[in-house]
Order: sequence, then C-alpha cells, then structure tokens
Amino acid sequence: MRPLNQNLDSIPFPAYAKDSFYFIGSNQIIQNDPSILEPILAIMPARGCPFRCTYCVNSLLRPMYQNMGHFNRRRSVPNVIAELKDVLAIPGNQKKIVEFHDENFGIDESWLSEFETLYPKEIGLPFKVQYNPTLVKSSTIGRLVNCGLHRAKFGIEAGTDQIRNQVFKRPGKNSQIIKLAHEIANYDVKIRYDLIMDIPYDTEDTLKETIGLLLQLPKPLHFNLYSLQYFPYYPLTQKALTDGHIQEDEASVDTLAQRLFRTWGFAPKLFPLTKRQMLQNIIWLMAFGHTPDGIVKDAVFTDSLAAKIKFAYLNLKSVFLGKIREIKRVMNKKIA
Ligand code: SF4
Repeated sequence: MRPLNQNLDSIPFPAYAKDSFYFIGSNQIIQNDPSILEPILAIMPARGCPFRCTYCVNSLLRPMYQNMGHFNRRRSVPNVIAELKDVLAIPGNQKKIVEFHDENFGIDESWLSEFETLYPKEIGLPFKVQYNPTLVKSSTIGRLVNCGLHRAKFGIEAGTDQIRNQVFKRPGKNSQIIKLAHEIANYDVKIRYDLIMDIPYDTEDTLKETIGLLLQLPKPLHFNLYSLQYFPYYPLTQKALTDGHIQEDEASVDTLAQRLFRTWGFAPKLFPLTKRQMLQNIIWLMAFGHTPDGIVKDAVFTDSLAAKIKFAYLNLKSVFLGKIREIKRVMNKKIA
C-alpha cells in the first residue's frame, strides 16, 4: 500500500461529459453524459474522518493506513471552487444545488473564512452539507447560511447514547443532537437525519428512548431510515457474529449484495408480531411525518385500553403506508 496522498489538490477532477465517453442505461448506449442532467452537483472537498464507527468503512481504513500519513485531508478552497466551475461550464448542465460530501465541512476556521469569501461570488448555488453532530457548532451553520446553505444532514444512527457510543463506537449524545437541531432550525435550515433500524442490540426500552428523541426534535422531520447491513469484516459485523445475532452466511458479500439490490431502507412489517418490531414501525411513521406526536405519546408512553388501540392502529397504518411506498418505489424504478 502507498502512503496517503497529503496533497489532494494534486488529484485531477472527476471527468464529466468527455467526447470519448459512452454510457449504458435502459438497454441503450448513449454518448451524452446523463450525470450532467442531474440537478445535484456532488463534490468531495476532503477525505477521511476522525472517527471509526463500527458499521462504517472508516473503521477498516483508519487502522489500515496507520502511520501512512494524515488520514484527514482537505482540498484548498480555490481547488474546490475550480472543480465546481468546471462542471458548471459544461453546456447543457442542469446543476441547481451543490452537495458537499465531507463530515467536517467548514470546521477549519481559516478554510471557512476563505470559503465565505469565494463561494458566494464564484458559485452562488444553494448547497447541502453533512455532519457528525459532535463536529459542528451552530455558529458555523450560521456562517454557512450566509453563503447559501440549504440543508444539513446529521447522522443520529442509533437513537440511544448507549448503542451509539458503545456498540457503534460513535461519539455524540442525544442531548447534543436535540440542542443543535433546535439551534439550526432557528436559522430556518432544513435538517435531514440518518437513523438505522433493525439493530439487534435495540430493546423495547432503547426503541422507546429513540421515539422520545424523535418527539423532541424540531418538526417537520425529514429522515433517511436504513436497515442495518452487515459488511464483511467490519467491527460491527464481527461483534454481531460473536454475540450470536447473525450467522456467517448473513455476513457474506452475496447476502449483502442481495439485500442492497432490493433496498437499503427500513420498511415496516407486520411480522414478527413483537413489541420491538411494532416500536420500529412507529418510528418509521414518525420519521416520514405520517403521525402527530400526541397519538405516539399516548400509544407508547401510557398504559390504558385506549393506548393499546392507538398502538395497534399506528402499526397497521405503518404497514399499509409502507406497502404503498414500496409499490411506488418499484414502479418508479421500472419507469426509470
Ligand atoms: S462519522 Fe460518518 S464517516 Fe466518520 S466513521 Fe462515523 S459513519 Fe463513518
């Protein structure tokens, strides 16, 4: 293995829409680059991450590259701007929004100052960022808003500190997430959260705690809700194998490929008819804004006949709406 390249500005920009390019899609070979018709312009201003969450590839890469140079590296602002300008100069491009793929976007003070000077006048498109909530201050978000920040994405990943910190080895507390989310909502910036379901370490109590977290986040909610995937050799996969939650064949590349071919998303299910599954179904309803908080509070946190009826109703509703969503997803795929 070679040492890590410390000068990211030396790497050529991704190639788009070259005359020599051909693309295969929908049983056709075409020459026009379809990616320039997409409204999102995705770009990586940095590489690396300071953490090693056990379900993430960085949990393998960081140890692999130990003593081979700084793992977290950042491109200069002019280099990032130059790549964006190159793409925006392609005739016929439909780019409307920039998506920065960088867990640490703007947390370096001098980088942020230069970005504030250059981005609004050189590019000016609205943009999206993504963060680990422990890495960003609300004042940084305020400065990014002045540059055109449209949406921030946060990884909650597990709804309890215990699973997030101890099983996922990911820093951050629910209390931090709630505080930051409210501060950011005050800037009128939309937040999209990532949350993982089907975690075998979740219990009825931790799922109720997750519901408690969602109840405290500013509304409306926008979520990506994933089903936990077991990538071969990742620390989380090894732990799940050791703890007997999965068997070897469930941690194989084939199983992973089959699951990912269907979907990464979590979908509500009627079976198994367990309280655990039902609580996850209710989280799905909340995450997609299909139920008011009041009914969830009654159904999950009170103990009466009316609460039991509401609990059953929420579950049936989640399964019904989940099926409709799945049908729409399959139909859209066929049309595409
Ligand atoms: S913070 Fe995000 S990128 Fe970094 S290790 Fe965790 S999941 Fe991976």
